[in-house]
Amino acid sequence: MQKLGFIGLGIMGKPMAKNLLKAGYELVVYDINEAAVKELVESGAEAGASSKDVAEKSEVIITMLPNSPEVREVVLGKDGIIEGAKPGTIVIDMSSISPIASQEIAAELAKREVIMLDAPVSGGEPKAIDGTLAIMVGGPKDTFEKVKEILLHMGSSAVLVGDIGSGNVTKLANQIIVALNIAAMSEAMVLAVKAGTDPEKVFQAIRGGLAGSTVLDAKMPMVLDRNFKPGFRIELHIKDLLNALETAHSVGVPLPLASQVLEYMQALKVDGKAKDDHGGLIQFYEKLAKVEVKKQ
Ligand code: NAD
Repeated sequence: MQKLGFIGLGIMGKPMAKNLLKAGYELVVYDINEAAVKELVESGAEAGASSKDVAEKSEVIITMLPNSPEVREVVLGKDGIIEGAKPGTIVIDMSSISPIASQEIAAELAKREVIMLDAPVSGGEPKAIDGTLAIMVGGPKDTFEKVKEILLHMGSSAVLVGDIGSGNVTKLANQIIVALNIAAMSEAMVLAVKAGTDPEKVFQAIRGGLAGSTVLDAKMPMVLDRNFKPGFRIELHIKDLLNALETAHSVGVPLPLASQVLEYMQALKVDGKAKDDHGGLIQFYEKLAKVEVKKQ
């Protein structure tokens, strides 16, 4: 079994790292949040002193960080992975970042014969805990084959989509679909309530039909309970939609609906709701219509 490093022990990284420990891997971990490191050490991991230290002690290093600047810092910065990794080391960045950044970071690592895959995930915290994430991967096929087993301890599927950057292009497509689904759900349910129906009954009536979706099943119960504890924070979805717009514009694609929903999320951020779950997008629509969607 390869010796693994794991950097970034947040909402997603913590349960993913715990699943690797459960599978029997030796794991060295690092996060700037000492409490998160302590929790993993109590579960059987070794604490690394820095990203460089983790790299020195690992054959495969997984990163699960917020966005491109943090991944750049952890991989290429001072005391970063690049300073500690031996030639042949594999870096799997599972954060959702710009595909352009993935390609640039991989090119720097390649100069030291360190190989990178971009392997973002979908499924959120519940699937990270269950080890049933959907993992979308970009990079060389032989490297993917070497680490596929590791990935399948964190996810129920790991699909190699193409070259480095392809994982994050796929994730951006995923995030556009999720954002627009939440917006559609919100618009519809605000109408249902203001027109005098019980939103829980509307949800039960439509979830088995064509409007049914994983998003509806995951987010509608949270909305009915007025539970906007993240999960996936609105500020992270803003980051993904900004990365989607940057990528789309660089290849000549307009994103008319995604850019609208981005601004709705931005309005909620200004309203102090950046750390709400993205299901909290419904609050934007509720304010427009002056109603609340909740259990009756
Ligand atoms: P999070 O903010 O909870 O976790 C990020 C972790 O990175 C934190 O523990 C933070 O302390 C650590 N970190 C930041 N900078 C660091 C540095 N320089 N060195 C070491 N550690 C550092 O975020 P999350 O919700 O776990 O999301 C992580 C990534 O996964 C994001 O790209 C997000 O878009 C993506 N994602 C999240 C979800 C979800 O539902 N939360 C679902 C799919 C994908």
